[in-house]
Amino acid sequence: MKVSGSNLLRVLNCAPSAWLPQPNRLIAAAVRGTHGHAYCQGRRDGLEHDAAMKARGIPEKYDAMMRSLPESLWNTGGTSEVAFAYNWREDTARVLGGDLQRQYDKAGLKRSSELPGTIDVAAVHKEARMGAVEDLKFITEQSRWRYPPPLRNPQMLFAALCMLLSVPELSAVEMKLVLVVMSDEDEYERTLILTGEVTLMDLAPFREALQATMADVWNKRGEYMEGPWCDECPAYCSCEHQVGLLRATLDTPPATGMFVVTPEQVAQALPRLLAAEKALEVAINAAKKLSDQEPIPLGGDRFYGPVPEDKRTVG
Ligand code: SF4
Repeated sequence: MKVSGSNLLRVLNCAPSAWLPQPNRLIAAAVRGTHGHAYCQGRRDGLEHDAAMKARGIPEKYDAMMRSLPESLWNTGGTSEVAFAYNWREDTARVLGGDLQRQYDKAGLKRSSELPGTIDVAAVHKEARMGAVEDLKFITEQSRWRYPPPLRNPQMLFAALCMLLSVPELSAVEMKLVLVVMSDEDEYERTLILTGEVTLMDLAPFREALQATMADVWNKRGEYMEGPWCDECPAYCSCEHQVGLLRATLDTPPATGMFVVTPEQVAQALPRLLAAEKALEVAINAAKKLSDQEPIPLGGDRFYGPVPEDKRTVG
């Protein structure tokens, strides 16, 4: 079970994704985001450009990208890399430590009852009874759906909740989400700053959902919910829902799961996989052909096919 503040968007939507087996599945890492984040962290620690590049092990090819970042990204007050632990059984929270590099267990996290999460910057203004949390993300236009505004962003709400519960003098927490938009060629495009403010009362529905979801995860239950988060789900290959989609595609239920992780499973499943691949290819090509004539509305603001006005595409 690997749940933390950063993957709550998926887990709150689909609890099984947290407790299903997670066989090896390569998910493209957002390398530029990891390096960009590390660089800003170095600059926040007071290092100059060259020293930050060296200290954080950032490859030379990202030099121009880092130089193009605006200084406002690291000129923030507060304490950086603050790790929280929320006890979902007792509805309490505590500060686990600073700059833990996600090594929560070493810091004494109680996995049976505590949910960890790290926020880039946390600040407390006790006189004003205000707290502040800030997170920085490197994104592309295509990945923007993963980072909703703070009032709808589970990672930000999680940090705000932990601040309010661990510092009882606070009456509200300001949330700031800084989205650094990069091009596909790793060029800096612009910075978006999204803000929101919450009290404990505002967080009541989120708290309730969090506790219920963690109980589901702990008891290995919950509903499957397909969504854009499936693309990066570590449990994709053991997901009954995804297997079910393949079964439906083939209309010939296989004896075992369709996702293969061992040579024996490959031998057993390959004929069906090739058949499924073919069936999917035919279905997808037909859908593409149709959508070439006219983009197909999928509900909400989503379309399948090219939409020239704002370049929205799905699939
Ligand atoms: S692939 Fe999607 S539906 Fe399946 S477990 Fe993961 S998030 Fe849930």
